[in-house]
Amino acid sequence: MVTKKNLIFLGAPGAGKGTASSALTEREPLAHISTGDILRAEIKNGTELGKSAAVLMEKGGLVPDDLVAGMVKSRLRQPDCDNGFILDGFPRTVNQANLLDQALKEIGRKIDAVIYFEVDDEILLQRLTARISCGKCGRIYNKLFLPPKQENICDDCNTALFQRPDDSRETAEERLKVFYKNTQPLIDYYRERKLLTSITEIERDKMLAALFRELT
Ligand code: AMP
Repeated sequence: MVTKKNLIFLGAPGAGKGTASSALTEREPLAHISTGDILRAEIKNGTELGKSAAVLMEKGGLVPDDLVAGMVKSRLRQPDCDNGFILDGFPRTVNQANLLDQALKEIGRKIDAVIYFEVDDEILLQRLTARISCGKCGRIYNKLFLPPKQENICDDCNTALFQRPDDSRETAEERLKVFYKNTQPLIDYYRERKLLTSITEIERDKMLAALFRELT
């Protein structure tokens, strides 16, 4: 079991971080911390944080570092993180990575591995613009590659599926630009710290399994 391990899943939007996180947390007692999911919950609940984040998210931009870092810091203090966690979509800037290092230091934890999901841009765009998800259980589908059994209905809970507003072609392209400008420098940041493992799309399952064996 991959317990007591603290992992970061790094990769462009649509690279499969969320899907891999869900698959792993089904088997392992790790907490899945997706900053995108936390922000979408804030928007749904109509909080002040949600209101200010929504404007930026709709355009494909980033929410300010101190805001997301604060959210993650309090999430890391929740008891389910004691068994280890996966950070999915955070950090997204070098400044966020520094804020994370500080927050972990305060609670006496450290990152054990950073997994970079490598995927071609064209595939990312195809995948983002065809992505649909369930608003109730959060299951992710893809109209092209992973369709639900019944068109637009969740296999698990029979709820109508929806497309995220930031998965339109225009916003998806902007999110990729933001990834290359702000998040790509983190690849070197974590490589220098000897924490980075890159995994390619084709060998993903094999590589993930090998890495988790190593971490166990
Ligand atoms: P995701 O679900 O990870 O693709 O995130 C959706 C959107 O939430 C992003 O396009 C950003 O606008 C915002 N977001 C999520 N995580 C972060 C983060 N770590 N820093 C800044 N903005 C974020």
